[in-house]
Amino acid sequence: MNQIKIGEFIALKRKEVGLTQAELAEKLLVSDRAVSKWENGVCMPDASNIPELCKILKISINDLFSGEVVDMKDNTKKAEENILALKANEEEVNKKLFFAVHFMGIFSTIFFIGFTFLLAVTMEESKAFIWIFLLAAAVYIICMFGCLALDTAAGYQECKNCHHKFKPSFKKIFLAPHIGYTRKLKCPKCGKKTWCKKVMK
Ligand SMILES: [Zn+2]
Repeated sequence: MNQIKIGEFIALKRKEVGLTQAELAEKLLVSDRAVSKWENGVCMPDASNIPELCKILKISINDLFSGEVVDMKDNTKKAEENILALKANEEEVNKKLFFAVHFMGIFSTIFFIGFTFLLAVTMEESKAFIWIFLLAAAVYIICMFGCLALDTAAGYQECKNCHHKFKPSFKKIFLAPHIGYTRKLKCPKCGKKTWCKKVMK
């Protein structure tokens, strides 16, 4: 997926229907800056904006992802290429999120243990100890919630029984017993409670 090409295509089509960036933004209830970012290839429109955007620009969703008007006879091939490109993109994002979870989890754990240890050696007798310790514990717990939120966003859990892949809610992830990233969850497809492995694809 070529974001620069897609951006130029959006700009071209916007001018063809006689809209300014601000007018297009207003129709889509987004900021001018958002439209400008799409057109400069900085980012893609959100999925929620794409159908309306395509309608306004009088193009198909397939045209948008291809960055050009797709010939009817190439339509299926282009659509397949676009789906694959989107999939690859999603996997890339998942990998980054997963890395962030690891980094934040490991870093905050080391920080918390190290900090507590340091406190214990340096200010054993002090009353401040308990307060500083509680503060560090609170920061640690917040970090752990952050990890869980990122973990919820990245990848899927795979049912051991039917191999269905699903994205549980934050609450379910939070409450589920787990060993590493494998969690005991109820599969929405077969309804069995199994130890679901974490998968990225
Ligand atoms: Zn299942």
